[in-house]
Amino acid sequence: MGLKSSWLASANAPGCPFPLNNLPYGVFSVGDDEPRCGVAIGDMILDCQRAEEAGLLEFEETPLFDVPFWNEVMEAGPELWAALRARLEDLLGNPAHKAAVMPLLVPQADAQMHLPFLVAEYTDFYAGRNHAFNVGSMFRDPANALPPNWLHIPIGYNGRASSVVVSGTPVRRPWGQLKSPDHALPAFLPSRRFDFELEMGAIVGTASDGPVTVDEADAMIFGYVLLNDWSARDIQAWEYQPLGPFQAKATATSISPWIVTNAALEPFRVACPEREFELLPHLKDTGPMLYNIDLDVRLAPKGKAASTIARTNYREMYYSVPQQLAHHTTSGCPMNPGDLLGSGTISGATKPERGSLLELSWGGKEPLQLETGETRSFLEDGDTLTLTGTAHGDGYVIGFGECVGQILPALEDPYKR
Ligand code: CA
Repeated sequence: MGLKSSWLASANAPGCPFPLNNLPYGVFSVGDDEPRCGVAIGDMILDCQRAEEAGLLEFEETPLFDVPFWNEVMEAGPELWAALRARLEDLLGNPAHKAAVMPLLVPQADAQMHLPFLVAEYTDFYAGRNHAFNVGSMFRDPANALPPNWLHIPIGYNGRASSVVVSGTPVRRPWGQLKSPDHALPAFLPSRRFDFELEMGAIVGTASDGPVTVDEADAMIFGYVLLNDWSARDIQAWEYQPLGPFQAKATATSISPWIVTNAALEPFRVACPEREFELLPHLKDTGPMLYNIDLDVRLAPKGKAASTIARTNYREMYYSVPQQLAHHTTSGCPMNPGDLLGSGTISGATKPERGSLLELSWGGKEPLQLETGETRSFLEDGDTLTLTGTAHGDGYVIGFGECVGQILPALEDPYKR
């Protein structure tokens, strides 16, 4: 299936990240207006609140767009998701609707983007094999890089929903307790090894009641975003044993502004890699549940051009989101609409495919050369880090919008009142 044609010319342009095939969901505002739900099409946004008020988005569950978040649509369930997508395809594809819909479009260039949903809870996994191997090699040793459980369950930790911010939000370098191997005692300092992590985030759309199968989990996913799990490596190295990351990952988690739905990603499904150990029955692969999404990372020092520092693909993951979500419910843990699941850092097998500076600079031992002449072991104040994701279809692409954050310097004294 190729490009679906829209009556809006910009949506049909080659390389446009938001053709009719995509229709991702966001929340935007213009000027001092209140934020509202919108759908990206070409270089415009369809204002869902006004479209609903105009009677163009009528469903049993209406009103759905009197609130500035997509959780109500999620809660309405997969039948509504399909009906809404079909209706949007008709409104934006069929020229008969052009006169009615045109006045409801807002230029993306005029819009400020907001978090597209209320983040209920946030879990971050550790499901990229190359990343887990690289980090384990540095933090422990290459012979025992993968923890013994790693090839049997998708391990993760409960993060903080309150840390999640929309792309464009600046991120301040945190202070924390650090301990260098050369000192007997820890010190409280600004992080000197502040890093990014290239990840995808999956958004749970429907609630679970008890354990779910991998196939049931697949049907619960509403969509995907790009995710940057900002990580203070020096805080992490000291605090992580035995309960995992805590303050190292709590400063901020940036997500791209548009939720790309499961439906839009359907043509890009790919299988997980060969298993070294057979997974237990409740976690077994039941079909292709990863996606072929090219990912890249750019770093721009303050006032300088950006250098591409990593390129990889989401298909490098060892576990799919449905496997992660199925595992998450095995204890009976209730999952809810708006739960965000981070994939874990995505790294390919070779050096230019590594999804964090920790790996790219090998813990600072091999500083990365930027195109502007600078080097980087970790992020410096003023650096802007940008993640992008693209799925390449037959005659069209699916984009996510950028996931951007600039590093602000640490506070001089975080306890000064
Ligand atoms: Ca992470």
